[in-house]
Formats: sequence, C-alpha cells, structure tokens
Amino acid sequence: MTQSYQPTQAQLLNGAAEPSTAAASTWTIEDSEELYRIRGWGEPYFSINAAGHITVSPQGDRGGSLDLYELVEALRQRDLELPLLLRFSDILKDRIERLNACFAKAIARYSYAGTYRGVFPVKCNQQRHLIEDLVRFGQPFQFGLEAGSKPELLIALATLNTPGALLICNGYKDEGYIETAMLGQRLGQQPFIVLEQLDEVDTVIQTSQRLGIQPLLGVRAKLSTRGVGRWSDSAGDRAKFGLSIADILTVVERLRAAGMLSCLRLLHFHIGSQVSAISAIKDALREACQIYVELAKLGAPMGYLDVGGGLGVDYDGSKTNFHASKNYSTQNYANDVVAEVKEACAARDLPVPTLISESGRAVASHQSVLIFDVLGTSEATQSTPEPLQPGEHALVRELYEIYESTHANNYQEAYNDALQFKEEAASLFDFGYLSLTERARIERLFWACCRQIVEIVRQEDYVPDELEDLEKSMASIYYVNLSVFQSAPDSWAIDQLFPILPIHRLNEEPTSRATLADLTCDSDGKINQFIDLRGVKDVLELHNYIPGQPYYLGLFLGGAYQEIMGSLHNLFGQTNTVHIQLTPKGYQIEHVVKGDTMAQVLSYVEYSAEDLLEQIRRRSEQALQNRDISLDEARLLQKNYQNSLNHYTYLS
Ligand SMILES: *Cc1c(COP(=O)(O)O)cnc(C)c1O
Repeated sequence: MTQSYQPTQAQLLNGAAEPSTAAASTWTIEDSEELYRIRGWGEPYFSINAAGHITVSPQGDRGGSLDLYELVEALRQRDLELPLLLRFSDILKDRIERLNACFAKAIARYSYAGTYRGVFPVKCNQQRHLIEDLVRFGQPFQFGLEAGSKPELLIALATLNTPGALLICNGYKDEGYIETAMLGQRLGQQPFIVLEQLDEVDTVIQTSQRLGIQPLLGVRAKLSTRGVGRWSDSAGDRAKFGLSIADILTVVERLRAAGMLSCLRLLHFHIGSQVSAISAIKDALREACQIYVELAKLGAPMGYLDVGGGLGVDYDGSKTNFHASKNYSTQNYANDVVAEVKEACAARDLPVPTLISESGRAVASHQSVLIFDVLGTSEATQSTPEPLQPGEHALVRELYEIYESTHANNYQEAYNDALQFKEEAASLFDFGYLSLTERARIERLFWACCRQIVEIVRQEDYVPDELEDLEKSMASIYYVNLSVFQSAPDSWAIDQLFPILPIHRLNEEPTSRATLADLTCDSDGKINQFIDLRGVKDVLELHNYIPGQPYYLGLFLGGAYQEIMGSLHNLFGQTNTVHIQLTPKGYQIEHVVKGDTMAQVLSYVEYSAEDLLEQIRRRSEQALQNRDISLDEARLLQKNYQNSLNHYTYLS
C-alpha cells in the first residue's frame, strides 16, 4: 500500500503506551485534504472548513456553502435517521451548466457551424425529483433525455417539455415502443428512434406506414474502436448493441426501398461508460465520423451525430487513465468532439451536424452524498497489555520482552520472533499444554507487538515483503449503518471506488486504519478498497471511535447508477433521501423521501403486515393460555412488533 502523506509523529494507536503529547495535534485540515484527496475529486463542490467539517458549495465558487456536519445534525433533529442520502439540486444544475458551457466554448473556439444538444440518459438515475429538476435546469440549453427501455420512454415522454430538446430512444424495441415513440412526435416531442437491431427497421417501416408518421431515425453503429476499462465490451465486433457496417448498409437499402431514407437523420455510438483515456474517445470519434460522412454520401440527410456516454468521473482525483479516474477534462472532451467532427465534415464538404452527447455519470454523480454512521469497531486487539506478572508462562515472558524492546533497528526480527512464539503457543494449546487464558494473553501481546511494528513501518520508506500485509491484517473493522448492496452496489459488484471519508473531526489526526463492514449478514457486505493517489488502498484512515459520540462518514460521487441497482439483501430498504437547495439565508429542504419501512420491504416479498401481526397475536394468545407468557410480556412483544413494521429498516 502507498502512503501519500507523512504522519506528523509516531503515535501508537488507541491506548498508547506513551501518552500523546500536545505536539501530536499538529494535524491540520490541509493534511486531511491531502490524505483524502478532496481537491482531486471534490473540487469545486466539497472542501473542509476551519472547524474540520466538510462543506458543500453546490454552485462551486459562484455561491454560498453549507456545513455538511451541521446539516446532518439538523436533519437528525427532524427525526430523519441515518443512513441519509442528501441530494443537492444546485450541484445538478451546475453540472449541466458546466457541460453545456464546455461545448459552447469548444464551438466558439473552432468556429463550429452547428450546435450542441445534450441528453441525459434516464437509466443513470430515474428518480422523479431528479429528472424533473434536470429537465428544468436544462431548459436554457434545450437539454433532452435518453430512454433505454419502455418504462424510461414513458418517463421521458411525459416529463420532457422543453421546446427543441431531443428525446433519444435507444435499447431493444418492440412495436409498442416504436409506436409510442412515433406518436410522441404528435405531442411536439422530437423522438429519435435509434435502430440497434436489424429487425427493428421492418417494424419501424410498417408502423410509420400504418400511422402515417415520418419518424426521425438514427442508427447505432458497432464501432471496432473500443473504450478502455470495465465497459470496453460495449463496442467491438462482439458487442451486445449496435449494427455492424454491413447491417447499417442493409438498413439504408431497406429504408430507401420503402421511400424512407429521408428519415435517417442520426448516427449514434457508445463505446462504454467511464472511459478513462481520451485517446479511446478520439479513436472512436474518427471512426464514427467516417461512417457519418459515408451515410450522408449514400443519400441520408443526416444532421445529427450522437457520441453516446462515456464522459468519465475522476473518483480518485488522480487525473490518470486508471479505471477510477480519467486523464482529460470535460473541456478537453468537448474540444475533441467538436474538432474531430468539424475536420471530418470539412474534408468531404459536408455541413456539420448537431452534436449530441448522452453524458450520464458526469452529470449525475456529484449531486448526491450518502451519510452513514459508525456503530462500533473491532477494537479488541487494541488495548494495552497488562504488565508482566511473576510466574507467567515462558512464551508470555518472551513476547512481553519483544513488546518492550521493539524499535526501528530491530522491528523485522521482532516481528519474526513474535510470529514464531504465537505459532508455538497455538501448537502447545492443541496438545493441552496451554490454558485458554494463557493463549488469550499471548494473542493480545502478539497484536500489541504488531501495533508497534506497524507504527515503525509507516515511517519507513522501504517495507520488507513479509510486513507488506501487516497493516491490512492489523486494520480495525468499523461497523457501519449501511447496506452496501442497497446503497453502493457497484462497490460490491465491480469493485468500483468511491471517495469515502469522515465529514467531521478533519482537524484531528486519523490514527486508526480500518475497513468497513455493513449491516448485512453477508461477508461480501464490506468495503476494503479505497481511493489513493497511486492505485488502491486496502485500509482507510479513520479517527478513533468514541462510543456514544456520533461518527459520520460520507460516500461521495455515488449519484449515478447506485440507487436503482441497489437491492434488498437482508431486507435493508431504500434510505431516507433529502433534497437540499441553497437559499440566500442558508438552505431549504425541498423534498423528503422517506426510506422504506419494514412493512414496505416485507410487502415486496409478498408478506402482509396485517397478516404477520395477526399471526403474532394468535400465537401470543395461545402462549397465554398455556401460561408460557405473561400478559405484560405479550403486550410488549406485540407493541415492538407493530412499531418495527412502521419503522426504518436500518439501526437507530
Ligand atoms: C449507459 C449509457 C449511457 C450513459 O453513459 P455514461 O458513461 O454514464 O455517460 C449513454 N448512452 C447509452 C447508450 C448507454 O447505454
């Protein structure tokens, strides 16, 4: 593991043998900023204030900011329990404005004779309040929507009310989908039906003739250029979506034969999400531009080029082509799109098309922050060992000596010796020569030695091989009030990295190293990979947990894909969600969407709360008759059962 900072002073973990001195608190908020890489991934929305709290500036440097810790405290006073999903609509607005500003700048810079009309892919986040905000904030830019399925089309058709905005219809389509999209034209929408499968063209031709509507058509090309990283299979010859060059020609011929080639207006491609290298985008653009000009040469009117999604988010703030990052800015991206298309059209004397991008992740990720609290830790290995008593076992004495004499010049030897004594203790125990108490004593001493060694190792430039994993195996587990499966499914399913950090105490040195374990009874319900400047960290620096005092962590940049892909593992339901908008005086709560109650999640698996309650009542009645339960106990049980049904699924 790599450390991107130098601790100010060698400090033992909790229960330090040496009392920490005042000098230990030279930790500053700048140290936290660097450690958690906030500038890298959080600018301009997130920073730390003098109190050591995360602040949110939803409008970047153009507007006010609010203290996230105080906000959470205020919401808890309104009985909004953790975990809490906070949505900052001003951030969403800012993301849309920035994306459009980047394209406007690129268009001006290259004197591009066309315009940009972005669309938001609804699949990134279908929540009604968010889509409604998005349409409203996108109005000045004629920002549209992209649907990838029939239900998403229903959302888009009803919600999009911006004159001139585009409605891109992707995904697998049956007759009902195509008919509904075409009829959308009669409502004043501009639905582009993007052909992804060869047989869709016949349905489109028949439906068009039946309804007497001239549709707006596009084709999705299967490029041979691939994206990079996780979603690179979205392109290439074996891709699930899109038409090969041969298929595209077939579409052209069939449309021409039906007298509908004049409907073919758009070329679409999508090389995958989170494209981390700008070179992949450029390669794809070059190939797509050639297909575009060839289609125009074949007689299709064209006029629209849709470059799909893929615009990345810098989750680790490293500005590299690592999968959790991207090596380009939105402005670089816009410049490349505009310049490539202009050049390709100029070479063939063609008018330039209207440019469309379907940027989802880049628009929706920043607007939400998930706040959850720590319920406890596995600090058992962290207490200071009792002093040596006369007559203790020889192995105890040996380990105690190591504990007292480890320093920077002998830590490697100390580690090997301690390990050997621990193994000896285990085999003595197996043969009945060591009591349970003695073995426990030896294990505690062993971990105390390891803690000292880890402290020394952290100061060293070179880490011996056998000690590489010590930090990881020494890490505490912080138990968090959260279901990874519900709130950060990509972290479990595809090892996606999200910035995670405490939202307060950032003026204090985080002296613990920890992994996170969630509430589910599933060993996969954990987070043990964290962002780092180089690669990935196995442990997260956290503050020592003080029982009885709230310790809040935030998961950032999770506004795209996570909510809808979340699942009800162990029946942990959707979290409370609060929409916050900044006002000149502070903020206002626009909407509160209460998370699932237990009765709700039970109904998803077909249990009726009433029936369950009735069964408990009947069983209590029987137990009463058998004198197995008292009346007071029966009443208490039923009250708890009833309360639980109406209560949040998380711990309070
Ligand atoms: C998923 C998807 C997008 C969104 O991609 P992002 O990388 O989130 O911007 C856009 N277009 C299509 C066709 C998609 O399938």
